[in-house]
Amino acid sequence: MTAEFVVEARGAVLSFGATPALRGADLAVARGEIVAIMGPSGSGKSTLLHCLAGILTPDSGEIHFDGRRVDTLGETARSALRRERFGFVFQFGQLVPELTAEENVALPLLLGGTRRAAAIEQARTWFPRLGLDGLAGRRSGELSGGQAQRVALARAMVARPDVIFADEPTGSLDSVTGEQVMDLLVDAARAEGSTVVIVTHEPRVAACADREVVVRDGKVTQLSAGRVAS
Ligand code: ADP
Repeated sequence: MTAEFVVEARGAVLSFGATPALRGADLAVARGEIVAIMGPSGSGKSTLLHCLAGILTPDSGEIHFDGRRVDTLGETARSALRRERFGFVFQFGQLVPELTAEENVALPLLLGGTRRAAAIEQARTWFPRLGLDGLAGRRSGELSGGQAQRVALARAMVARPDVIFADEPTGSLDSVTGEQVMDLLVDAARAEGSTVVIVTHEPRVAACADREVVVRDGKVTQLSAGRVAS
């Protein structure tokens, strides 16, 4: 694998029973690149994201991260990889309702062995950055959808992951709030030098990315040239 690509799918094929989801998907994402995966519903976008993130293992083909095969690793190693190197944002924030916003943000640090006081302190630095001043002590039920999704962004980024995987991160928000969340995600990722892979069906969201690709019938079509894929 070329070192400039941080995550890569090569000829990924995956079926759920008799339903083919990926039929030979190729995608290479450069370090620091923000890539939007577009395409019709059911075309295989989420399945491709889950394969790249080591959540699913393809039936055939290869997944690489940082020069290593991921698809040949066992579940324990892939789970460690996800915890230590990746951040995740899903359509519905999936915050832990019993925890405060700052505890939710601190979770990846706590799981990584950071002591509680240090983790909370680091988590708090994200609240002003994401326009969440004064909300650190709230629980998810006391946050608006946009606020909860910004907390989810902070949680995805707090441990400084190599790659952030976002599956329809604005899908549950109105367009103005979705745009704000997307702008924050892109700005923070650029500031941190994070690579971002976003599944979205919204052209406005995709327009914030460096590059858009389209998944159709389980295969990837390149739409616009990115920084390395010219
Ligand atoms: P998209 O994200 O583009 O909407 P998906 O990757 O979710 O598409 O799904 C691709 C295909 O795989 C669809 O036909 C979908 O119904 C099927 N599929 C996805 N996940 C599962 C699953 N867990 N079990 C069975 N079929 C699935």
